[in-house]
Amino acid sequence: MKILVVNAGSSSLKYQLFDMETNTVLAKGNCERIGIDGTITHKRPGKEDYTEKAPLPDHKAAIELVLRLLCDAELGVIGGVEEIGAVGHRFAHGGEMLRKSSVLGDEEIKYLESIAELNPLHGPPAISGFKACKSVMPNITHVGVFDTSYYSDMESHAYIYPIPYELYEKYKIRRYGFHGTSHRFVCAKASELLGSKDIKVITCHLGNGSSITASVNGKAIDTSMGFTPQEGVPMGTRSGTIDPTVVTYIMKKEGLSPEECEKLLNSKSGLLGISGVSSDCRDITIARDGGNERAGLALKILVHYIKKIIGSYIAEMNGVDALVFTAGIGENDKLIREAVCRDMSYLGIEIDEEVNMACPKGAFGELTAKGAKVRTFVIPTNEEYMIALDTQNLAK
Ligand code: ADP
Repeated sequence: MKILVVNAGSSSLKYQLFDMETNTVLAKGNCERIGIDGTITHKRPGKEDYTEKAPLPDHKAAIELVLRLLCDAELGVIGGVEEIGAVGHRFAHGGEMLRKSSVLGDEEIKYLESIAELNPLHGPPAISGFKACKSVMPNITHVGVFDTSYYSDMESHAYIYPIPYELYEKYKIRRYGFHGTSHRFVCAKASELLGSKDIKVITCHLGNGSSITASVNGKAIDTSMGFTPQEGVPMGTRSGTIDPTVVTYIMKKEGLSPEECEKLLNSKSGLLGISGVSSDCRDITIARDGGNERAGLALKILVHYIKKIIGSYIAEMNGVDALVFTAGIGENDKLIREAVCRDMSYLGIEIDEEVNMACPKGAFGELTAKGAKVRTFVIPTNEEYMIALDTQNLAK
Protein backbone atom coordinates (compact mmCIF):
# COMPACT_ATOMS: atom_id res chain seq x y z
CA MET A 1 0.00 0.00 0.00
CA LYS A 2 1.16 3.55 -0.72
CA ILE A 3 0.55 6.03 2.09
CA LEU A 4 0.74 9.80 1.81
CA VAL A 5 1.74 11.52 5.06
CA VAL A 6 0.77 15.17 5.38
CA ASN A 7 1.93 17.67 8.00
CA ALA A 8 0.21 21.02 7.53
CA GLY A 9 1.44 24.17 9.26
CA SER A 10 0.04 27.68 9.02
CA SER A 11 1.99 28.54 5.85
CA SER A 12 3.49 25.17 4.97
CA LEU A 13 2.50 21.67 3.98
CA LYS A 14 5.07 18.88 4.24
CA TYR A 15 4.46 15.53 2.58
CA GLN A 16 6.02 12.09 2.21
CA LEU A 17 4.78 9.27 0.04
CA PHE A 18 5.68 5.84 1.45
CA ASP A 19 5.62 2.48 -0.26
CA MET A 20 4.84 0.28 2.74
CA GLU A 21 5.63 -2.95 0.86
CA THR A 22 9.24 -1.93 0.30
CA ASN A 23 9.48 0.38 3.35
CA THR A 24 10.74 3.21 1.17
CA VAL A 25 9.99 6.88 0.72
CA LEU A 26 9.07 7.38 -2.95
CA ALA A 27 8.98 11.18 -2.74
CA LYS A 28 8.80 13.91 -0.16
CA GLY A 29 8.73 17.66 -0.08
CA ASN A 30 7.45 20.87 1.34
CA CYS A 31 5.10 23.61 0.14
CA GLU A 32 6.11 26.87 1.76
CA ARG A 33 4.77 30.41 1.92
CA ILE A 34 1.16 29.25 1.47
CA GLY A 35 -1.10 32.31 1.48
CA ILE A 36 1.87 34.59 0.68
CA ASP A 37 3.23 33.56 -2.72
CA GLY A 38 4.23 29.89 -2.74
CA THR A 39 7.14 27.53 -3.40
CA ILE A 40 7.33 23.76 -3.55
CA THR A 41 10.44 21.63 -3.12
CA HIS A 42 9.89 18.09 -4.35
CA LYS A 43 12.49 15.40 -3.61
CA ARG A 44 12.91 11.87 -4.92
CA PRO A 45 15.71 9.55 -3.80
CA GLY A 46 18.59 9.49 -6.23
CA LYS A 47 17.16 12.31 -8.34
CA GLU A 48 17.77 16.01 -8.40
CA ASP A 49 15.44 18.11 -6.20
CA TYR A 50 12.77 20.04 -8.06
CA THR A 51 11.71 23.53 -6.95
CA GLU A 52 8.85 25.50 -8.40
CA LYS A 53 7.43 28.87 -7.54
CA ALA A 54 3.66 28.64 -7.82
CA PRO A 55 0.85 30.72 -6.39
CA LEU A 56 -0.43 28.84 -3.35
CA PRO A 57 -3.35 30.87 -1.99
CA ASP A 58 -4.40 28.09 0.40
CA HIS A 59 -3.79 24.49 1.51
CA LYS A 60 -6.10 23.18 -1.24
CA ALA A 61 -3.89 24.73 -3.92
CA ALA A 62 -0.85 23.24 -2.16
CA ILE A 63 -2.18 19.67 -2.03
CA GLU A 64 -3.36 19.92 -5.64
CA LEU A 65 0.17 20.87 -6.65
CA VAL A 66 1.63 18.02 -4.56
CA LEU A 67 -0.65 15.50 -6.27
CA ARG A 68 0.16 16.96 -9.70
CA LEU A 69 3.89 16.49 -9.05
CA LEU A 70 3.46 13.01 -7.54
CA CYS A 71 1.58 11.91 -10.69
CA ASP A 72 3.64 13.92 -13.20
CA ALA A 73 5.02 11.91 -16.13
CA GLU A 74 8.54 13.23 -15.55
CA LEU A 75 8.75 14.28 -11.90
CA GLY A 76 6.18 11.86 -10.53
CA VAL A 77 6.47 8.52 -8.77
CA ILE A 78 2.94 7.12 -9.23
CA GLY A 79 0.63 6.68 -12.21
CA GLY A 80 -2.40 8.31 -10.59
CA VAL A 81 -3.97 9.44 -7.30
CA GLU A 82 -5.88 6.12 -7.11
CA GLU A 83 -2.55 4.44 -6.24
CA ILE A 84 -2.57 6.24 -2.87
CA GLY A 85 -4.15 3.81 -0.42
CA ALA A 86 -4.67 6.24 2.48
CA VAL A 87 -3.56 9.61 3.83
CA GLY A 88 -2.09 10.10 7.32
CA HIS A 89 -2.35 13.55 8.89
CA ARG A 90 -0.14 14.75 11.70
CA PHE A 91 -1.96 16.59 14.48
CA ALA A 92 -0.10 18.03 17.46
CA HIS A 93 -3.15 17.79 19.73
CA GLY A 94 -5.81 15.13 20.06
CA GLY A 95 -7.20 16.47 23.34
CA GLU A 96 -8.70 14.02 25.82
CA MET A 97 -10.97 12.28 23.32
CA LEU A 98 -8.62 11.25 20.52
CA ARG A 99 -6.47 8.91 22.56
CA LYS A 100 -5.30 6.85 19.59
CA SER A 101 -4.65 7.36 15.89
CA SER A 102 -8.11 7.44 14.30
CA VAL A 103 -9.89 7.46 10.97
CA LEU A 104 -11.03 11.06 10.54
CA GLY A 105 -14.79 11.44 10.12
CA ASP A 106 -17.13 14.34 10.84
CA GLU A 107 -17.23 13.60 14.57
CA GLU A 108 -13.42 13.62 14.93
CA ILE A 109 -13.05 16.86 12.98
CA LYS A 110 -15.81 18.52 15.00
CA TYR A 111 -13.96 17.54 18.17
CA LEU A 112 -10.62 18.79 16.82
CA GLU A 113 -12.27 22.11 15.96
CA SER A 114 -13.67 22.33 19.47
CA ILE A 115 -10.18 22.01 21.02
CA ALA A 116 -8.38 24.32 18.54
CA GLU A 117 -8.10 26.87 21.35
CA LEU A 118 -5.80 24.50 23.25
CA ASN A 119 -3.49 24.43 20.26
CA PRO A 120 -3.86 27.74 18.38
CA LEU A 121 -0.63 27.51 16.35
CA HIS A 122 -0.90 23.98 14.97
CA GLY A 123 -4.58 23.02 15.33
CA PRO A 124 -6.34 25.28 12.79
CA PRO A 125 -3.74 24.81 9.99
CA ALA A 126 -3.77 21.01 10.47
CA ILE A 127 -7.57 21.02 10.17
CA SER A 128 -7.38 23.20 7.01
CA GLY A 129 -4.77 20.81 5.61
CA PHE A 130 -7.02 17.82 6.29
CA LYS A 131 -10.08 19.51 4.74
CA ALA A 132 -8.08 20.43 1.64
CA CYS A 133 -6.83 16.84 1.25
CA LYS A 134 -10.29 15.40 1.87
CA SER A 135 -11.79 17.67 -0.80
CA VAL A 136 -9.32 16.56 -3.46
CA MET A 137 -9.18 12.89 -2.31
CA PRO A 138 -12.75 12.29 -1.07
CA ASN A 139 -12.80 8.52 -1.52
CA ILE A 140 -9.58 7.70 0.34
CA THR A 141 -9.32 6.89 4.06
CA HIS A 142 -7.86 9.80 6.03
CA VAL A 143 -6.26 9.03 9.38
CA GLY A 144 -5.26 11.46 12.15
CA VAL A 145 -2.13 10.72 14.20
CA PHE A 146 -1.82 12.82 17.33
CA ASP A 147 1.36 13.83 19.17
CA THR A 148 -0.56 13.73 22.43
CA SER A 149 -2.02 10.24 22.13
CA TYR A 150 1.14 8.46 23.34
CA TYR A 151 0.39 10.04 26.73
CA SER A 152 -3.23 8.98 26.96
CA ASP A 153 -2.42 6.19 29.43
CA MET A 154 -0.56 8.49 31.81
CA GLU A 155 -2.04 8.38 35.28
CA SER A 156 -3.87 11.39 36.63
CA HIS A 157 -1.18 12.15 39.22
CA ALA A 158 1.21 12.72 36.30
CA TYR A 159 -1.10 15.01 34.35
CA ILE A 160 -3.17 17.00 36.85
CA TYR A 161 -1.56 20.33 37.80
CA PRO A 162 -1.62 21.34 41.45
CA ILE A 163 -4.05 24.22 40.84
CA PRO A 164 -7.80 24.31 41.69
CA TYR A 165 -9.24 21.11 40.23
CA GLU A 166 -12.24 23.02 38.85
CA LEU A 167 -9.91 24.64 36.30
CA TYR A 168 -9.19 21.21 34.87
CA GLU A 169 -12.89 20.44 34.73
CA LYS A 170 -13.81 23.83 33.26
CA TYR A 171 -10.99 24.41 30.76
CA LYS A 172 -9.24 21.02 30.48
CA ILE A 173 -6.07 22.57 31.85
CA ARG A 174 -3.82 19.56 32.38
CA ARG A 175 -0.58 18.13 31.09
CA TYR A 176 -0.99 16.59 27.62
CA GLY A 177 2.59 16.00 26.47
CA PHE A 178 3.88 16.42 22.91
CA HIS A 179 6.32 14.80 20.42
CA GLY A 180 4.53 11.54 21.30
CA THR A 181 4.91 10.03 17.83
CA SER A 182 8.68 10.50 18.01
CA HIS A 183 8.96 9.12 21.55
CA ARG A 184 6.76 6.15 20.60
CA PHE A 185 8.95 5.42 17.56
CA VAL A 186 12.32 5.54 19.34
CA CYS A 187 10.99 3.76 22.43
CA ALA A 188 9.76 0.90 20.21
CA LYS A 189 13.21 0.76 18.59
CA ALA A 190 14.86 0.58 22.02
CA SER A 191 12.54 -2.30 22.96
CA GLU A 192 13.54 -4.09 19.75
CA LEU A 193 17.23 -3.55 20.56
CA LEU A 194 16.84 -4.89 24.09
CA GLY A 195 14.70 -7.73 22.83
CA SER A 196 11.90 -7.00 25.29
CA LYS A 197 8.87 -4.76 25.66
CA ASP A 198 9.04 -5.16 29.39
CA ILE A 199 11.57 -2.35 29.94
CA LYS A 200 11.94 1.15 31.35
CA VAL A 201 13.07 3.71 28.80
CA ILE A 202 13.88 7.42 28.92
CA THR A 203 13.72 9.07 25.51
CA CYS A 204 15.25 12.53 25.01
CA HIS A 205 13.84 14.27 21.92
CA LEU A 206 16.17 17.26 21.81
CA GLY A 207 15.63 19.60 18.88
CA ASN A 208 14.48 23.14 18.46
CA GLY A 209 11.58 22.00 20.62
CA SER A 210 12.63 19.43 23.22
CA SER A 211 10.88 16.94 25.43
CA ILE A 212 11.88 13.98 27.57
CA THR A 213 9.57 11.02 28.17
CA ALA A 214 9.64 8.10 30.56
CA SER A 215 8.04 4.87 29.29
CA VAL A 216 7.37 1.57 31.01
CA ASN A 217 6.45 -1.45 28.86
CA GLY A 218 6.01 0.80 25.80
CA LYS A 219 3.63 3.22 27.55
CA ALA A 220 4.47 6.75 28.60
CA ILE A 221 4.20 7.33 32.34
CA ASP A 222 5.53 10.90 32.38
CA THR A 223 6.82 13.55 30.03
CA SER A 224 8.38 16.98 30.32
CA MET A 225 6.00 18.97 28.10
CA GLY A 226 2.64 19.79 29.60
CA PHE A 227 -0.47 21.84 28.78
CA THR A 228 1.53 23.27 25.87
CA PRO A 229 4.97 22.53 24.41
CA GLN A 230 6.25 25.35 26.62
CA GLU A 231 6.89 23.21 29.72
CA GLY A 232 10.06 21.24 30.43
CA VAL A 233 13.67 21.73 29.33
CA PRO A 234 14.81 25.09 27.90
CA MET A 235 14.47 25.01 24.09
CA GLY A 236 15.66 27.04 21.12
CA THR A 237 13.42 30.00 21.88
CA ARG A 238 11.06 28.65 24.59
CA SER A 239 11.82 29.06 28.25
CA GLY A 240 10.64 25.65 29.40
CA THR A 241 9.69 25.37 33.08
CA ILE A 242 10.02 28.52 35.18
CA ASP A 243 8.48 29.75 38.42
CA PRO A 244 4.96 30.84 37.33
CA THR A 245 5.28 34.03 39.37
CA VAL A 246 8.04 35.16 37.02
CA VAL A 247 5.36 35.44 34.33
CA THR A 248 3.06 37.80 36.23
CA TYR A 249 6.07 39.75 37.56
CA ILE A 250 7.41 40.33 34.02
CA MET A 251 3.93 41.38 32.86
CA LYS A 252 3.68 43.95 35.64
CA LYS A 253 7.23 45.27 35.34
CA GLU A 254 7.36 45.42 31.53
CA GLY A 255 3.69 46.34 31.08
CA LEU A 256 3.07 43.34 28.82
CA SER A 257 -0.27 41.88 27.79
CA PRO A 258 -0.79 38.09 28.19
CA GLU A 259 -0.14 37.66 24.44
CA GLU A 260 3.05 39.73 24.59
CA CYS A 261 4.33 37.79 27.57
CA GLU A 262 3.49 34.50 25.88
CA LYS A 263 5.49 35.68 22.86
CA LEU A 264 8.44 36.59 25.06
CA LEU A 265 8.41 33.13 26.66
CA ASN A 266 7.85 31.31 23.36
CA SER A 267 10.02 33.17 20.89
CA LYS A 268 12.60 35.18 22.79
CA SER A 269 13.58 32.89 25.66
CA GLY A 270 15.36 29.56 25.99
CA LEU A 271 18.82 29.24 24.42
CA LEU A 272 18.29 32.40 22.38
CA GLY A 273 17.20 34.42 25.39
CA ILE A 274 20.07 33.31 27.60
CA SER A 275 22.85 33.43 25.00
CA GLY A 276 21.66 36.46 23.05
CA VAL A 277 23.41 34.74 20.12
CA SER A 278 21.06 32.25 18.48
CA SER A 279 18.45 29.57 19.11
CA ASP A 280 20.65 27.05 17.29
CA CYS A 281 22.96 24.87 19.37
CA ARG A 282 25.62 24.89 16.62
CA ASP A 283 25.90 28.70 16.64
CA ILE A 284 25.89 28.77 20.43
CA THR A 285 28.67 26.17 20.64
CA ILE A 286 30.81 28.20 18.23
CA ALA A 287 30.16 31.36 20.28
CA ARG A 288 30.99 29.52 23.53
CA ASP A 289 34.25 28.21 22.05
CA GLY A 290 35.02 31.78 20.99
CA GLY A 291 34.77 32.90 24.63
CA ASN A 292 31.14 34.09 24.80
CA GLU A 293 30.19 33.45 28.44
CA ARG A 294 26.45 33.71 28.00
CA ALA A 295 26.61 31.14 25.20
CA GLY A 296 28.47 28.84 27.60
CA LEU A 297 25.85 29.51 30.27
CA ALA A 298 22.99 28.66 27.87
CA LEU A 299 24.51 25.24 27.13
CA LYS A 300 25.18 24.58 30.83
CA ILE A 301 21.57 25.42 31.71
CA LEU A 302 20.30 23.12 28.95
CA VAL A 303 22.38 20.20 30.23
CA HIS A 304 21.43 20.96 33.85
CA TYR A 305 17.70 20.68 33.09
CA ILE A 306 18.05 17.55 30.96
CA LYS A 307 19.97 15.84 33.77
CA LYS A 308 17.39 16.86 36.38
CA ILE A 309 14.55 15.42 34.32
CA ILE A 310 16.38 12.16 33.58
CA GLY A 311 17.15 11.79 37.30
CA SER A 312 13.56 12.42 38.30
CA TYR A 313 12.28 9.81 35.84
CA ILE A 314 14.73 7.21 37.14
CA ALA A 315 13.33 7.93 40.60
CA GLU A 316 9.74 7.63 39.33
CA MET A 317 10.39 4.32 37.56
CA ASN A 318 12.73 2.91 40.19
CA GLY A 319 15.40 2.47 37.52
CA VAL A 320 15.91 2.63 33.78
CA ASP A 321 17.05 0.09 31.19
CA ALA A 322 17.66 2.35 28.20
CA LEU A 323 18.38 6.01 27.59
CA VAL A 324 17.76 7.27 24.05
CA PHE A 325 18.84 10.48 22.34
CA THR A 326 16.99 11.66 19.24
CA ALA A 327 16.11 14.72 17.05
CA GLY A 328 18.44 17.51 15.87
CA ILE A 329 20.52 17.93 19.03
CA GLY A 330 20.11 14.37 20.32
CA GLU A 331 21.19 12.81 17.03
CA ASN A 332 23.96 15.24 16.16
CA ASP A 333 25.37 17.05 19.15
CA LYS A 334 27.90 14.72 20.73
CA LEU A 335 29.07 17.38 23.19
CA ILE A 336 25.59 17.78 24.66
CA ARG A 337 25.21 13.99 24.87
CA GLU A 338 28.56 13.71 26.59
CA ALA A 339 27.75 16.48 29.06
CA VAL A 340 24.33 14.98 29.88
CA CYS A 341 25.77 11.51 30.53
CA ARG A 342 28.78 12.76 32.50
CA ASP A 343 28.73 11.87 36.22
CA MET A 344 25.66 9.67 35.93
CA SER A 345 27.45 6.42 36.85
CA TYR A 346 25.64 6.34 40.22
CA LEU A 347 22.44 5.89 38.19
CA GLY A 348 23.98 3.28 35.90
CA ILE A 349 24.48 5.57 32.90
CA GLU A 350 27.98 5.49 31.45
CA ILE A 351 28.89 6.06 27.83
CA ASP A 352 31.99 5.23 25.84
CA GLU A 353 33.34 8.69 25.05
CA GLU A 354 35.22 7.58 21.96
CA VAL A 355 32.18 5.85 20.50
CA ASN A 356 30.07 8.91 21.27
CA MET A 357 32.54 11.25 19.58
CA ALA A 358 32.79 8.97 16.53
CA CYS A 359 29.01 8.41 16.21
CA PRO A 360 28.14 9.70 12.72
CA LYS A 361 25.72 12.61 12.64
CA GLY A 362 22.11 11.58 12.35
CA ALA A 363 22.90 7.85 12.43
CA PHE A 364 22.06 5.04 14.84
CA GLY A 365 24.67 4.36 17.52
CA GLU A 366 25.03 2.53 20.81
CA LEU A 367 27.09 4.57 23.26
CA THR A 368 26.98 2.23 26.28
CA ALA A 369 30.33 1.92 28.06
CA LYS A 370 31.55 -1.58 28.84
CA GLY A 371 29.84 -2.90 31.93
CA ALA A 372 27.32 -0.03 32.25
CA LYS A 373 23.93 -1.03 33.68
CA VAL A 374 21.91 1.24 31.39
CA ARG A 375 22.12 0.94 27.59
CA THR A 376 22.46 4.34 25.91
CA PHE A 377 21.51 4.82 22.27
CA VAL A 378 21.28 7.44 19.55
CA ILE A 379 18.21 6.55 17.49
CA PRO A 380 17.22 8.79 14.57
CA THR A 381 13.53 9.56 14.88
CA ASN A 382 11.06 8.98 12.06
CA GLU A 383 7.68 10.41 12.95
CA GLU A 384 6.45 10.27 9.35
CA TYR A 385 7.07 6.52 9.13
CA MET A 386 5.18 6.00 12.39
CA ILE A 387 2.26 8.04 10.97
CA ALA A 388 2.36 5.95 7.76
CA LEU A 389 2.34 2.73 9.78
CA ASP A 390 -0.67 3.76 11.90
CA THR A 391 -2.44 4.95 8.75
CA GLN A 392 -1.83 1.65 6.99
CA ASN A 393 -3.06 -0.34 9.98
CA LEU A 394 -6.28 1.68 10.22
CA ALA A 395 -6.87 1.78 6.46
CA LYS A 396 -6.65 -2.00 6.28
P1 ADP B 1 12.80 20.90 15.21
O1 ADP B 1 12.40 20.78 16.64
O2 ADP B 1 12.51 22.24 14.62
O3 ADP B 1 12.40 19.72 14.35
P2 ADP B 1 15.49 19.82 14.97
O4 ADP B 1 15.13 18.48 15.49
O5 ADP B 1 15.90 19.91 13.54
O6 ADP B 1 14.40 20.90 15.27
O7 ADP B 1 16.70 20.36 15.87
C1 ADP B 1 17.29 21.60 15.71
C2 ADP B 1 18.49 21.66 16.67
O8 ADP B 1 19.36 20.59 16.31
C3 ADP B 1 19.28 22.94 16.57
O9 ADP B 1 19.58 23.42 17.87
C4 ADP B 1 20.57 22.51 15.90
O10 ADP B 1 21.66 23.20 16.40
C5 ADP B 1 20.69 21.05 16.26
N1 ADP B 1 21.43 20.38 15.19
C6 ADP B 1 20.99 20.04 13.98
N2 ADP B 1 21.97 19.49 13.25
C7 ADP B 1 23.08 19.49 14.00
C8 ADP B 1 24.42 19.07 13.82
N3 ADP B 1 24.83 18.52 12.67
N4 ADP B 1 25.29 19.23 14.86
C9 ADP B 1 24.88 19.76 16.02
N5 ADP B 1 23.60 20.18 16.25
C10 ADP B 1 22.73 20.06 15.26
